[in-house]
Amino acid sequence: MSCSKLSKKRKIEEECRVFNENWTEKYFFTDVGVKAACLICSETVAVFKEYNLKRHFQTKHANFGHNLSKQELQKRANGLTKRLKQQQNVFDKTSSLQRNATKASFILANKIAKQNKSFAEAEFIKDCMVDAVSIVCPEVKSKVEAISLSRRTIVRHIDAIAVNIHEQLLTASGFLLL
Ligand SMILES: [Zn+2]
Repeated sequence: MSCSKLSKKRKIEEECRVFNENWTEKYFFTDVGVKAACLICSETVAVFKEYNLKRHFQTKHANFGHNLSKQELQKRANGLTKRLKQQQNVFDKTSSLQRNATKASFILANKIAKQNKSFAEAEFIKDCMVDAVSIVCPEVKSKVEAISLSRRTIVRHIDAIAVNIHEQLLTASGFLLL
């Protein structure tokens, strides 16, 4: 490839800012969606730019793997990538648990509002649910405990539901154009 072609290619790569697979072995970075994550310290770099990754590697992990062969470095990079993906899976699982807990809290807040129950009853309901679940399926007890049903949360959720319904009504009647 001629020099001009090479520089043209480099220019395109920089403009598109795609993650180059070679950077994993060279600088121990992996592509985590919109960012590149360092496999050694987990720090993320927002731009897929070789210069940034290289600078991170050279300033923070200058001596990393200097006594390893190319093959060993490759193996190490693969192992670290695998570990990072596992950590991400745990993270994704946790956030879906949190999402479900929030959803359950909203559904109960909606029921309480509809039935004109006192907000404080939510805490009593949670107490009952935790007790019952501890007996019938103790393995999900922590999931029920994660549902926030404090008075403050219920008030906040009912307010949010009210605002949402109000907006839906305005939209439906043509007052609010989204
Ligand atoms: Zn690092």
